[in-house]
Amino acid sequence: MSGLIKAIRGFSDVPPEEAWKYNYIEELAREHFQKYGYREVRLPVVEATELFARGIGTATDIVEKEMYTFLDRNGQSLTLRPEGTASAVRAYLEGGWKSWGGIAKIFYTGPMFRYERPQKGRYRQFYQMGLEAIGAGHPEVDGEVVALLHRLFLRLGVEDITILINSLGCPVCRPSYRSELVGFLQDLAEELCSNCRKRIEKNPLRILDCKVPTCRENLSDVPVMIDHLCGECSHHFERVRYCLDGLDVPYAIDPKIVRGLDYYNRTAFEAICGRLGSQNAVAAGGRYDGLAREIGGDVPGIGFAMGIERLRLVMEWKGLHIPLPEFYVASATENARLTAMTIADKLRSMGSRVETDLETRSLKAQLRSANRMNIRTVVIVGDDEIAKGTVICKDFSNNTQQEIPLDELFSKTAAVNRR
Ligand code: ATP
Ligand code: MG
Repeated sequence: MSGLIKAIRGFSDVPPEEAWKYNYIEELAREHFQKYGYREVRLPVVEATELFARGIGTATDIVEKEMYTFLDRNGQSLTLRPEGTASAVRAYLEGGWKSWGGIAKIFYTGPMFRYERPQKGRYRQFYQMGLEAIGAGHPEVDGEVVALLHRLFLRLGVEDITILINSLGCPVCRPSYRSELVGFLQDLAEELCSNCRKRIEKNPLRILDCKVPTCRENLSDVPVMIDHLCGECSHHFERVRYCLDGLDVPYAIDPKIVRGLDYYNRTAFEAICGRLGSQNAVAAGGRYDGLAREIGGDVPGIGFAMGIERLRLVMEWKGLHIPLPEFYVASATENARLTAMTIADKLRSMGSRVETDLETRSLKAQLRSANRMNIRTVVIVGDDEIAKGTVICKDFSNNTQQEIPLDELFSKTAAVNRR
């Protein structure tokens, strides 16, 4: 026998006792996003490498060192998507979604891939649900998107989440701020970690959210973008806050929030949860008015993506359960086996979750199975019952049993399932 093949590092299976949680989060979010007029799209998992190189920016961690890039059989360079925004904007431009009129409101869900160091809350394949509002630059859009995210956390029942917002300026005000920042950082270079030193010229903003304690200390009075906003950016930021205040969305301004991706401008935000330790960002997003220009179009947009694994970790699962089968249809005799299967079939067609025996086991073994699966109602059918057109219903919750006409089982189930 050859050796057991295992999943590769950073890629893992999501077993049933976890997968239902992903579904729970995704279903609830799906329904929530739809309330605001967002519609689901499905985007490719693989894109031309150039889309991410141009759309995310070559000076970012993602493009520099986290992408899964390979040549296909034609020699074209392809990349497993590390995030969804670049694809969403590409799809908007390519599909002419401008013709929908107004703001294209879309969301997506699925696996993303980044070559990172796996640890709790950080994997190489992970699941994101992302939402994008493409087509308008107005601060009201930003306000509603952040409010929508906050309301989603309320609906999911996670309360200890903090929303942090910042403004990253625009091509008018960022360059002069950037040079001031670079000057400040160069004076400090000796004190910074090696990673930050490398970033001074290439991606100085990213230094602001370095997690190394000495860097944090040294950067306590670093110049920040929100003190250098141009008139328009400053007005935009004020309007966003005005909306959030009016909608009663709690938030804090954190001038050190920067996004890892180059195309962000103006509003940037993160939702963090202290319980997660160093992988504390549950969702992150912002405005990316410059992204489309990098990939051959021109349209403003804003969006966010949330990490399903991290949300799963901070959610309270008590009281929420993976749906159990409602019935076990057992056969008392060999002859009744097919009848049991047809009863199960009919109950399922009425919307119930039903188990039945497929291994020709004894009645006793079937009852044991039902018990192990925590199934409350066992329907037993044998030769006598077939002759009478009845079944025996055994209720494990109070250990009672009664014989009822088969029709009654169906009509009662139909009534319960209609509710
Ligand atoms: P971090 O600073 O934690 O690396 P990021 O800025 O790279 O996050 P984004 O690109 O903004 O993250 O992705 C949005 C969300 O996706 C994050 O807030 C997080 O919840 C989740 N996420 C990002 N990378 C991973 C990963 N490798 N494993 C699991 N979840 C992730
Ligand atoms: Mg990252």
